[in-house]
Amino acid sequence: MAAVPFRVGFGEDAHRLEAGLPLVLGGVPVPDAELGAVAHSDGDAVLHAVADALLSGLALGDIGQYFPDTAAEWKGMDSRVILAKALELVRGRGYAPVNVAVVVTLDKPKLGPLRAEIAASVARLLNLPPSEVGLSFKTSEGLAPRHVQTRVTVLLGSIEG
Ligand SMILES: [Zn+2]
Repeated sequence: MAAVPFRVGFGEDAHRLEAGLPLVLGGVPVPDAELGAVAHSDGDAVLHAVADALLSGLALGDIGQYFPDTAAEWKGMDSRVILAKALELVRGRGYAPVNVAVVVTLDKPKLGPLRAEIAASVARLLNLPPSEVGLSFKTSEGLAPRHVQTRVTVLLGSIEG
């Protein structure tokens, strides 16, 4: 691969929501969620999309290849492990994230009060200052009330001198 200074990545993730399940976004439990994510892992749609964005920037495939949802060992797993694996693969290719932009579409609850906590959590996991994690919170305007969707772009910078 030619050493270009920057590469862009894009990721998307969605989960169906049901009552009685936890909702975790960006590694942060959402305290007043009436609905939680149906998933093989902990269903963290933010971390899944960030991990896929990291991998896509270097054409390394997607998280389903590394963590198949048929594997019993990954059942209920903490998605921070998935993100750590994606980051390790990216670093192995000589790149690190520069900044990340995250759009979360969720009708309820409003995520604004968790903005600083989610940004800090994602930043910590990516080894970035929170100022490099942009978060936009949208609703589906009632079109998909039992659904959480996340879209992420990431800029990767070469760490080779
Ligand atoms: Zn997911």
